[in-house]
Amino acid sequence: MDLQLVLVLLTVDILLSLSEAVSASLNPGDAEGFLEKYGYLHQKDHTHNADKVTSAVRQFQWLSHLPVTGRLDSTTLLKMASPRCGVKDRGSNEAWKRRVNSVFTGQSQQHLRKKRYTRPGGRWYKQHLTYQIVNWPRHLSQGPVRLAVRMAFQLWSNVSGLVFHELNEGQTDIRLAFYEGEHNDGTSNAFDGPGGALAHAFFPCRGEAHFDKAERWTLSSHKGHNLFLVSAHEIGHTLGLEHSPVRHALMSPYYKKLGRSLLLSWDDITAVQQLYGKPSAGAVVQIPSQDLSWAMQDWELSEEPMGDISLPHYCRNTFDAITMDGNGTVLVFRGGLFWTVTSESNRSDPLPLKRRWPQLPFAIEAAAFSPLDGKFYFFNGKHIWRYSGTVLDPGFPKKSSECDMPRHPDCAFFYAPLGHMVVFKGSRYFVLNLETLRSEPYYPRGLADWKGVPRGANGAVTRADGKLYFFREQQYWRFDPRKLRVTGSGQWTKKLAWTGCHRTSSNDVL
Ligand SMILES: [Zn+2]
Ligand SMILES: [Zn+2]
Repeated sequence: MDLQLVLVLLTVDILLSLSEAVSASLNPGDAEGFLEKYGYLHQKDHTHNADKVTSAVRQFQWLSHLPVTGRLDSTTLLKMASPRCGVKDRGSNEAWKRRVNSVFTGQSQQHLRKKRYTRPGGRWYKQHLTYQIVNWPRHLSQGPVRLAVRMAFQLWSNVSGLVFHELNEGQTDIRLAFYEGEHNDGTSNAFDGPGGALAHAFFPCRGEAHFDKAERWTLSSHKGHNLFLVSAHEIGHTLGLEHSPVRHALMSPYYKKLGRSLLLSWDDITAVQQLYGKPSAGAVVQIPSQDLSWAMQDWELSEEPMGDISLPHYCRNTFDAITMDGNGTVLVFRGGLFWTVTSESNRSDPLPLKRRWPQLPFAIEAAAFSPLDGKFYFFNGKHIWRYSGTVLDPGFPKKSSECDMPRHPDCAFFYAPLGHMVVFKGSRYFVLNLETLRSEPYYPRGLADWKGVPRGANGAVTRADGKLYFFREQQYWRFDPRKLRVTGSGQWTKKLAWTGCHRTSSNDVL
């Protein structure tokens, strides 16, 4: 049985000015070819009577959320040229007609869902699936691609009973690969260079998603084609999902940019849950698109032209927060990611913040570990989170105002000489008693108490020598608590090997 679904995304970019829009429109003469190609008309002898064509156009317009007129007007031709995904197998064309007719004749949604998603052979008969990225696109390095693909799989595992694991070698259930031109799955699947077909995928249990290597794959919402979005859509096919007629669905046939709405619509979630059930943990987790957009900007920025990441992104730019846990491991936070650097200066890959502390918001503004109670404190906006390990303590997040702490703090750190948490905000600092979770009396006070420490520090780390290192952008300031002033400063990426940002030998560890 040919259960192949071919994703053909025309790459004409739709944003845009009217002139661009006009030039991106399809010629009326090509419309029937288009309707054949995408399964609205049969391909036998390329002859169709007018009624069939009108009906096909109506179906296309309905799916495309256009006025259903049956006429090939300019809006319809324009839509036909916009990036989209095409279904090429026999079965799906029938299912498609059935679905559209059912909607027009008002049959029950439940009936539709059944017809639509339970196709023989159209699902995996296990919940744990492995995947592999077989090779790599040209303009993105491996780190960002891995993150994007991992996040794309996570979208689906967050809302279903599925669990995914990446394997670097050996047999895997699902394989993602970048190819050019013909690549041994039929001439109709041959990629056509920049533009035209972007990617295609196969239903279970073939487990293949192919991407046109000639495309400009990015993680940005402003240029090229977003690899995360297209991967997430293709992965949907590899799981057995067909296209959704819901406008904002991820499985809608149209390539769309990352918008404000949630990435998965109710229809996507219904479809995947009908095949694989709900998440075993219970709660369905949806990450707001805006958060994903920020995360991807971070990943994109970490692109290296040479294709390898010798230094993580946080070393070359600012970060949101930095702290050190009880084992002397430094944690650096940026956007939705964090890095760890052990006391032996072994640096981790970027890790998603939410994996370790699932209840945190997408990003945080300040983080501090307290050796007093062995807990992590996170600050963002007007809330404070406290974790014992990876478990959120009862009663948290708390409002900062309940603890007399400022909103949007610059940084937070445990300060041993005071025995309390110190929170910097602008020109003032606050002192938080961790036992009462209230401000100590007579605070906040002016930052002038911290002689030489600049405003707007991102974080502070106390080293074994008792010195406190403040960070802001590329600079650090070393504060000596005994002298109550800064006794040294410099560029931390050059001097402080323990931050994991040092390229040279460990001889000059500070
Ligand atoms: Zn598709
Ligand atoms: Zn292929």
